[in-house]
Amino acid sequence: MTAATGISRSRHATGELVRLDRERILHPLLPDGRQDRTVLVKGEGCRVWDADGREYLDASAVLGVMQVGHGRRELAAAAAEQLGRLDYFHTWGTITNDRAIELATRLTDLAPPGLDRVFYTSGGSEGNEIALRLARYYHHRKGASGRNWVLSRHTAYHGIGYGSGSLSGSPVYQDGFGPVVPNVHFLTPPHPYQKQWYAGEDPTDFCVRELEATIEKIGPEHIAAMIGEPVMGGYGAVVPPADYWPRVAEVLRRHGILLIFDEVVTAFGRTGRWYSAEHFGVVPDILVTAKGITSGYIPHGAVLVSEEVSEVVGAEGGFPIGFTYTGHPTACAVALSNLDIIEKEGLLANATGTGAYLAAGLRSRLLGLPAVGDVRQIGLMLAVQLVSDQETGADLPGGTLRVADALREQAGILVRNNAHALIVSPPLVLDRSTADKIVDGFCFVLERLGTDGS
Ligand code: PLP
Repeated sequence: MTAATGISRSRHATGELVRLDRERILHPLLPDGRQDRTVLVKGEGCRVWDADGREYLDASAVLGVMQVGHGRRELAAAAAEQLGRLDYFHTWGTITNDRAIELATRLTDLAPPGLDRVFYTSGGSEGNEIALRLARYYHHRKGASGRNWVLSRHTAYHGIGYGSGSLSGSPVYQDGFGPVVPNVHFLTPPHPYQKQWYAGEDPTDFCVRELEATIEKIGPEHIAAMIGEPVMGGYGAVVPPADYWPRVAEVLRRHGILLIFDEVVTAFGRTGRWYSAEHFGVVPDILVTAKGITSGYIPHGAVLVSEEVSEVVGAEGGFPIGFTYTGHPTACAVALSNLDIIEKEGLLANATGTGAYLAAGLRSRLLGLPAVGDVRQIGLMLAVQLVSDQETGADLPGGTLRVADALREQAGILVRNNAHALIVSPPLVLDRSTADKIVDGFCFVLERLGTDGS
């Protein structure tokens, strides 16, 4: 079948590929006992195909990455052109390259005012490692080395490096991996749906009161920074109340604590803006990006740094440490071409418009079903929270994986899931008729789902 469809270029039949995969690859997040594999071989727009020629609708944009959709020849051409010219060089010391300079200029021109410098990485975890180092080093250079605590939030996801994993607010990133990076304190995140977390109080009031009490307890002279996803992605498109970030930023500023926004998911149009910080009217000191910067065609990331921080950490735009691939010209060339597409095709506006359309469809067809608790959305960042009890919002017994599997098997739709929600984050090129297909597929599967998870 694979040879007949001409889709797969593999020398192996599908069964053989699955066997080799089982024997040779250590898979992240492989559920216990799973022997099956979906061997993907081709992508185009919002669709991907497996080695047997079966088509899937990629309602996850891979992992919230693929802004411009699969199969964009422009990005392949940009990479090929750059590989044929200056394939790769580092940007350590005084060495630099035209693509890294052009991209840094573009990123900082698009950014909220004040974020003037770029440190390049190859992904989101690396970006948060650098953010943590920048924050502690900044205070060290200012003679305040005692400021080494970092505030994060329960349920946050910041990656799986030792630093970034230690900032991630779920035990799975720490248990069994110890000792993890010390001096991290987790706060309650603002989650308007989880009213029981706030004991009847307004979520922002609760969170700000907790923040102030924590600063007083640890001592502001010991705290370097607070890190947060402006909109939590991995936990399921958790959009905070409008006053949360402005009030948090004010408290931090008052105590000389840096604010780090982890925009690994939210930047580059995912929420309908270049950077989601724009929604909240807050400019962080450090802003971490990755994923959508190249739509995942090649690994890349950029940490945007305020003038104040960059001037303190190194004279003349320097920082004492760097990655091998920092400022990779081919990654930068792909990023520039990707940003061109986002701009030319109006994908920010499409994320806003089609995102609202998709959310309206999901809400009108799903809310009211016994196992659907909440549908959240900002731009093309959505989540459908599944519950066993509408009153308490308790999770489905057995989790959501079976539902994500059913969407794939019964409706041909690929989504991510966490313990509580299905995460819907399609490519930003999504059109309304494809959005309708997502709604129909969700409806088909969730109408048959009981609150006992069966
Ligand atoms: N930060 C956030 C908010 C993320 O969602 C992710 C990945 O999903 C990361 C950091 C880690 O990025 P990476 O997997 O590129 O290391």
